[in-house]
Amino acid sequence: MKNKIDNNIKLYEDYPYLKEHITRVEEAVVNDGKYYVRLTETIFFPEGGGQYADTGCIKVLDKDNNETETEYKVINSIIIDGKIYEELSINHINEDSFKKEDSFKEIFNNQTTVKCILDWDKRFSRMQNHSGEHILTGVIHNKYGFDNVGFHLSDDSPVTMDLNGFLNDDELKEMERQANEAIYANLKIHAVYPEEDEAESIDFRSKIEISDQIRLIQIGEDDNILDMCACCAPHVSNTGEIGIIKIITADKYKSGIRIGILCGKRAIEYIQKQSEIINDITVLLSAKQEKISEGIKALQKEISNYKEKNIKLITEIIDAQIEKSDNEKCIFIHFDIDAIAMKNTYNKMSMKHDGYVGVFVGDDENGYRFNAGNQSGGSKILAEKMRCDLDAKGGGSDEMIQGKINQKEEEIRSFFLNVE
Ligand SMILES: [Zn+2]
Repeated sequence: MKNKIDNNIKLYEDYPYLKEHITRVEEAVVNDGKYYVRLTETIFFPEGGGQYADTGCIKVLDKDNNETETEYKVINSIIIDGKIYEELSINHINEDSFKKEDSFKEIFNNQTTVKCILDWDKRFSRMQNHSGEHILTGVIHNKYGFDNVGFHLSDDSPVTMDLNGFLNDDELKEMERQANEAIYANLKIHAVYPEEDEAESIDFRSKIEISDQIRLIQIGEDDNILDMCACCAPHVSNTGEIGIIKIITADKYKSGIRIGILCGKRAIEYIQKQSEIINDITVLLSAKQEKISEGIKALQKEISNYKEKNIKLITEIIDAQIEKSDNEKCIFIHFDIDAIAMKNTYNKMSMKHDGYVGVFVGDDENGYRFNAGNQSGGSKILAEKMRCDLDAKGGGSDEMIQGKINQKEEEIRSFFLNVE
């Protein structure tokens, strides 16, 4: 089994720590308004296997190998017909699109020498997270036999893996602990390239990914191999560089589970943010960190007590209004009450008065919600009258109607004085 293949194009495979590299342009292509160069060899990983393409920049060198003024951003790296192309942002070279194409081809003509510079922070973070994913799915696979059937390495949300089996919270916690143990053990990570006949006898994950040349990422060595998985991406060389593997989310997904993780620098940033939030909460609650849940429960209880008192007070206020409504069959409530309180008020008004009664909640500016009618029947006739005279909207049963009205209190009161 080879530890390295003589691949002088995909440098990111065997030299994942190569941040800069001087090479030549083999081809400059313009396609669909996009500008690509194909390099003799590249340090930019092209999008694939759930991981986005590397970014960075390219600087053109003059004949004495000195860097020229302008740098061109590498915004994407893609594989077309088995060849890797770097997409460049060349907005600054010429306004005119025809001239731009000419200028582009002139700058990147055959064999132009260029210096490639990788956006290293982004790449290293992806290496930490991708290697971390291999470890976690590796320990889960070893214990439960589940496979990762969907992997997505995003830069702004947790890295997700879909497993074809379910784990409960305790099991996940134990797997997270074991994955971090593998970090403390600082195991070696490297790529191996088995011959076709050798590959058949090796037990490795993600057999679906295999193309022509099998590339396996091996974690651990000799009789202490933690994981072996087919993969095309660059990885860190030792598990210790991952720093930490933290499970952030776990949701049922299809017949298995979707786990979201963060590793290394991104995990630390996440934990720092969480600490800030927890600290803010402890200040707001004036409670110690371990007493946060109790503090929130006490607040909830307090709110529920206030709600109860509030309902009692509102009922008293409304009852007093009903009591005073001797001559008028409608009452106006200028604070918000819920549908149940409105219905109760309507029932009480109906008990006090014969004929049509109305309960209006709101104000002149924003209009009123209402319950109205006669519990003995005829409410639908009232609905029709209110529609004609007051432009009210709504409907209901013959015992009660409800709706919305945009009229002044005075207008509504005078309507109810005269309606029969
Ligand atoms: Zn992988």
